[in-house]
Amino acid sequence: MPACDVPSEPVERLLPPEALAQTAPSLPEVTEPELVRHFVNLSTQNMSVDSHFYPLGSCTMKYNPKRNETLSSLAGLLGLHPYQRVETIQGMLSILHSLQEMLAEISGLEAVSLQPAAGAHGEMTALFVAAAYVRDTDPARNVVLIPDGAHGTNPASAAMAGFKTVEVKSTPGGLVDLDDLASKLDERTAVFMITNPNTLGIFERNIAKICQMVHDAGGLVYLDGANMNAILGVTRPGDFGADMMHFNPHKTFSGPHGGGGPGAGPIAVTGKLAPYLPVPVVKKSGEEYGLDFDRPKTIGRVRSFFGNTGVLVRTYCYLRTHGPEGLRRVSENAVLNANYLLSRVKHFLPVPQGDRCMHEFVATAQTLKRERGVSALDIGKRLLDYGFHAPTVYFPLIVHEALMIEPTESECRSTLDAFAEALFRVTEEDPDLLHHAPHTTSVSRPDEVRAARQPILKWAGPER
Ligand SMILES: *Cc1c(COP(=O)(O)O)cnc(C)c1O
Repeated sequence: MPACDVPSEPVERLLPPEALAQTAPSLPEVTEPELVRHFVNLSTQNMSVDSHFYPLGSCTMKYNPKRNETLSSLAGLLGLHPYQRVETIQGMLSILHSLQEMLAEISGLEAVSLQPAAGAHGEMTALFVAAAYVRDTDPARNVVLIPDGAHGTNPASAAMAGFKTVEVKSTPGGLVDLDDLASKLDERTAVFMITNPNTLGIFERNIAKICQMVHDAGGLVYLDGANMNAILGVTRPGDFGADMMHFNPHKTFSGPHGGGGPGAGPIAVTGKLAPYLPVPVVKKSGEEYGLDFDRPKTIGRVRSFFGNTGVLVRTYCYLRTHGPEGLRRVSENAVLNANYLLSRVKHFLPVPQGDRCMHEFVATAQTLKRERGVSALDIGKRLLDYGFHAPTVYFPLIVHEALMIEPTESECRSTLDAFAEALFRVTEEDPDLLHHAPHTTSVSRPDEVRAARQPILKWAGPER
């Protein structure tokens, strides 16, 4: 390096004396091995897909292939700076452009934005797009209809985009109640949001009719794509009538779930909504890739630059690894695994919505709770002692004492058998043992409200 040509200034000349600390800060003084052990030990107190079966329904905790970690960390990708000139990032832009095209193909929709940073953020972005479209075409439409089994992010996103939300009932079989939907569709309907397969793991077999009803009333259909893992290469939201959707790459396309870290939630929309997508959009003219900012109707930016490219590159690697045939097999195996587990579990934990499912199913502990005082929470906690992460509990809200189980396609039969056996044994155990489970973890039953509101984040030493 050449000698520095910036004159150095003593700190006393840069800051007034009263701004200077009199004592050194009290930083922990530890050796490197102590530090490494601290973090490695903390990391082993948690469960992850790399260490345990993790059947967390709706969240699709499938295995994250290590190859995708290696490829997304290649220096030519990882070392890029978003302010580099477009000519110098052609490789990355070509990956993003291909990814846009692949997601458009999988969705059956025309245009894609890779910017949103999570599924929920994708929902919000698409609803901003819908709001801008409605402002241009029929501003009186200000209502978003949402089924009662929907994920909580659906009404939250609709509210953030300025819409009023109205709930649509489900039938006892767990599908959208068409009469209730018909009675709520009118000239104020802007969007109907639907998850398909729905949060009970059932395919809405009236989906084409539902989309037709919404379109006849002048509304748009939003498809929550969190459950795409069940239908890749089998059916496409655009084909059954959706106008817009989001993807969750960390669910469907094996991205790591970031613990709140960088994620992605690309959205796809029909041609009439495409002019409203966030800028910039990656485009191709001739051999060159570029960025398209020339979109007068855009809702603007929702994320800096192109989105979280690290996660998007993993998605690209996953899609290229599987190809169209492989993606269809992913879904077929996800559905097969879920039905296998369902067939083993339903004998001791009832599954109210049926004998068949898509990629996940919802069992209920209602009878156990009534007869022996054992709740879904008790069962989930006790499974940790057996070395299994708990399923999702108490969601969806329309099933009492719900346990939502999603094995994913990445598990083998012996794991599914071991889980079913552990689950059966738990339901037979002494209720007192279950109320105080887990017994083998470093923390048993934290006060969940206080753990969120007043977390203890300071290390109190290994003796704790
Ligand atoms: C996970 C999920 C979301 C939200 O996605 P995030 O990526 O977690 O923000 C929305 N809807 C459903 C049905 C989901 O399972």
